[in-house]
Amino acid sequence: MDFFKPLIAGIFCSLFTLEATVAFTIQKSNETHHQSVSEIDSGGGQSNPVSKYDSLTYFADNGFGQPLQTIQHPSGEYYEGVTYLAYQGPKEDPYICSYNHQTKEWIGPIKAGTSALGKTLNLKNPDKVDNHGRPALIVDGNGYIHLVFGGHGGDSDQGDNSLGSYGSGKQTHIISKKPRDISSWEIMDNIPSFGTYSQFIKTPNNSIYLFYRHGPHRSDWVYQKSTDNAKTFAKPVSILRHKPQNGNPDVYDTWYAWFQEGPNKTVIASFNYHPCAPNRTVHNSLRINEYAMKMNTVDDTWENAKGEKLTMPLTKEYADSMTMVFDSKGEKTRVGTNLADSLGNLHLSFRYNSKNQVIYYVNWTGGQWKTSQINPLEYTFNNGDMFIENRDIIRFFTSYRHQNISHAGWWNSNDIGLTWEKEIPMLSSVSASFVMSALIRNAHPDARVIVAEIPDNPNEKHSKLYLLGNSGPVKRNHVR
Ligand code: ZN
Repeated sequence: MDFFKPLIAGIFCSLFTLEATVAFTIQKSNETHHQSVSEIDSGGGQSNPVSKYDSLTYFADNGFGQPLQTIQHPSGEYYEGVTYLAYQGPKEDPYICSYNHQTKEWIGPIKAGTSALGKTLNLKNPDKVDNHGRPALIVDGNGYIHLVFGGHGGDSDQGDNSLGSYGSGKQTHIISKKPRDISSWEIMDNIPSFGTYSQFIKTPNNSIYLFYRHGPHRSDWVYQKSTDNAKTFAKPVSILRHKPQNGNPDVYDTWYAWFQEGPNKTVIASFNYHPCAPNRTVHNSLRINEYAMKMNTVDDTWENAKGEKLTMPLTKEYADSMTMVFDSKGEKTRVGTNLADSLGNLHLSFRYNSKNQVIYYVNWTGGQWKTSQINPLEYTFNNGDMFIENRDIIRFFTSYRHQNISHAGWWNSNDIGLTWEKEIPMLSSVSASFVMSALIRNAHPDARVIVAEIPDNPNEKHSKLYLLGNSGPVKRNHVR
């Protein structure tokens, strides 16, 4: 297999056609096919086998801003033969599509609701997109589809935020009017409007947990639990506490966190710490360290990787002593994603910016944390998420850059994260960048992740969206 052939073909494709900025490859039976979204010029195909397809490799072309990111999730769920997908579309509203794996029928994009974000023109910066209110999706135990979106802290008109401060937008919950049907929706007025980074967890007995930050930076991270398919939620429970920093009360202890369902009725949390400075002049986006813990959803108690019980909510001091995975010594980290293996041991990935930007893969071996690096330094990873394919193989999907070319694809490890090998990327472009969702919940192997292709040209406001599986994109005949 010549690695460079598809790469070169990808460059040709992007440079020599107006439309086909994306090329991807599928590796199957030791044979490489190169395909593009639109017809490829003959120049690109001279020395490479090029197949022409009349079906589209993307399923929608109305992604807006940064339509996806791992921190609002799930972005999709496979449920009874259908994959449901949500993303941020025009005006930051939540859009949804569905794909039936048996009939190969696509439905959507459908505008499912209206986000409170993206509706007021920012006169100082008209191109600024908030992006915090991307939709999170879950299918409940009866097949109704739920989206939560539109939040970035809310404002004081929406009530008293006793667990944080005020920002913008309005966390909004909607539910499909019929099960397994994305065509019509109604608003469920049953959660606080202050939430940011909404994340759904569903347990095997169909309890639904909604995790989020209860406002902008200076707010607690909380969850709310529902045992009636999200018709009602119990009151928010704080798990990560915001408070004035010990010794420097102008600065606040605050957090970024990511949650994932684990085996044996658990929820895994990984998080980092943001020292939130008081005002715009001194405030910055510094986030440091990496932490992890686990919740038992039978009694909603938390423990650290060692299995020591935790007293909730965590303060900075307590988190440092009980849950720290990695002390970045003041250097930047960016919270990534996590999972737990069949033994319940925690695995997580996160970005660490010291001299270089590296993506660490860290797993609990039963007695200690083992750290390795996924990316060779010449590869810059934007975002990523992972799953365990079987006991030996961990697959990490990432959007990344290498030598000024953007890519999206899999990196695999067959030694529990110690070493990683890159697959041929599924998407490559010299005129766009890629952003990705977290991996789809309960995913069909053909449909594991959503990727948006954001054109570098600022005049192109919308992005194409791809549904990618183990070996390539799910196609559709047309976008309606
Ligand atoms: Zn802050």
